[in-house]
Amino acid sequence: MGLRVYNTLTRTKQDFVPRTPGRVDIYQCGITPYDYTHMGHARQYVFWDTVRRYLRWRGFEVFCVQNVTDVDDKIIAKANERGTSPAEVAAEYHEDFLDVMDRLGVERPDVFPKVTEHIQDIIRVIEGLVEKGYAYQVDGDVFFDVTRFPDYGKLSRRSPDEMMAGARVEVDPRKRNAMDFALWKASKPGEPAWDSPWGPGRPGWHIECSALALKYLGSGFDFHGGGDELIFPHHENEIAQSEAYTGQEPFARYFVHHAMLNVGDAKMSKSLGNFFAVRDVLRQYEPGVIRYYFASRHYRSPASYSADELEAARRAYERLRSTLDAARRRIADAGRTGASGRASQAPADDEASSAGSRGDELSKAASEAREKFIQGMDDDFNTAVALAAVHDLARSVNDALHSGSEVSSGGLRRAVDTMEELGGILGLFREKEEGAADSGLMDGLVELLVQVRGELRAKKEWALADRIRDGLREMGIVLEDTASGTVWKREK
Ligand SMILES: [Zn+2]
Repeated sequence: MGLRVYNTLTRTKQDFVPRTPGRVDIYQCGITPYDYTHMGHARQYVFWDTVRRYLRWRGFEVFCVQNVTDVDDKIIAKANERGTSPAEVAAEYHEDFLDVMDRLGVERPDVFPKVTEHIQDIIRVIEGLVEKGYAYQVDGDVFFDVTRFPDYGKLSRRSPDEMMAGARVEVDPRKRNAMDFALWKASKPGEPAWDSPWGPGRPGWHIECSALALKYLGSGFDFHGGGDELIFPHHENEIAQSEAYTGQEPFARYFVHHAMLNVGDAKMSKSLGNFFAVRDVLRQYEPGVIRYYFASRHYRSPASYSADELEAARRAYERLRSTLDAARRRIADAGRTGASGRASQAPADDEASSAGSRGDELSKAASEAREKFIQGMDDDFNTAVALAAVHDLARSVNDALHSGSEVSSGGLRRAVDTMEELGGILGLFREKEEGAADSGLMDGLVELLVQVRGELRAKKEWALADRIRDGLREMGIVLEDTASGTVWKREK
């Protein structure tokens, strides 16, 4: 069975059929940079990063477009408050977004279009809508006439009354219908403005996504992503504008909406002021912990943000990583001591056969984990199941390491590689790449001390041996003497 995805358009899980075989085109609604990027945003971009990594791993070519709404009422308000320009405000918070996303290991989109650099593209679409009779201008403003698009409401499945209530419609006697929304806004004094056939002004919010998606992806692309709060009116309006403009449907084949991140009973948002900036959370938790926290929840389940939840994620992630570390050390040991060491390279004779069967078990566990991971991700990107598969494999590795018997390093290596490969799709275990040089040196030094301590113990130099153990413990490194030798781990 292949990938199935919950599509808001149909309210069902559907088989994923790409527009172009072997390729997936994605559009995501991007940020409006007027404040720091918070954990609610991170949920979206981490999720889509995982989707992109997964689809690529499954052999798809993946292409992702994500806009930046760098002109907006809130940006203008903040600039006025500070006495700077909207461009400066947008640049500052866009920079924060890039920085924290890089640190979370979120790959940048292939195209990252800024609205202010695409005004002509947007004007062209508005002109087309006016020509076709879907839009009209009044005093330098241009509105979309929702009654001209019979399918209006098909995504949100709301009645006109419900839509009225949900849209917080601005009362404007110049509009033909209360639900009509602005495509172009005549500029007020002191606001950024661009020339247009309707006079100086700036684009409305909804039209930018239609224009940018159509420019870079064309009609009928695969995934449109965004938070479920955008279903109405934003995505409803995107569909109306785009399908009216092109005369083709669908605008996007699958609308994929993630649930909000809540704090208590309210969604985390800039406008409510109850948000946790990613940059602050990153001071306390490493990126892998944050990725773990998001991966442990299905994207369509509302999640509640709290310090306890993050702590739980940290502990669980540490467990995974200490298993990986221990397994890597065992493999490195085997490499140093050769086939006669505690972990043998290959079962060459009878003595090694138990190591061989342990290794076979680990190879089997790795295959099972891979299968479960794929099943989870193919079932509407269920990262919680995928993460559980990594945990299952870690448990097998742990059992093998602590069994007291030999483990063939072939099986162990396969298990470790699989953990890293699958974890990597979820954005885990990247610390290795980042601090590879430092942590390699650190591990080497600890290994050396552990070996020296072993030699001291063999000579019954207990005081010195204990001094090494106690000193390491003060640095957060715990030694454990087992039947198969001394193992060490980082304590947090
Ligand atoms: Zn959008």
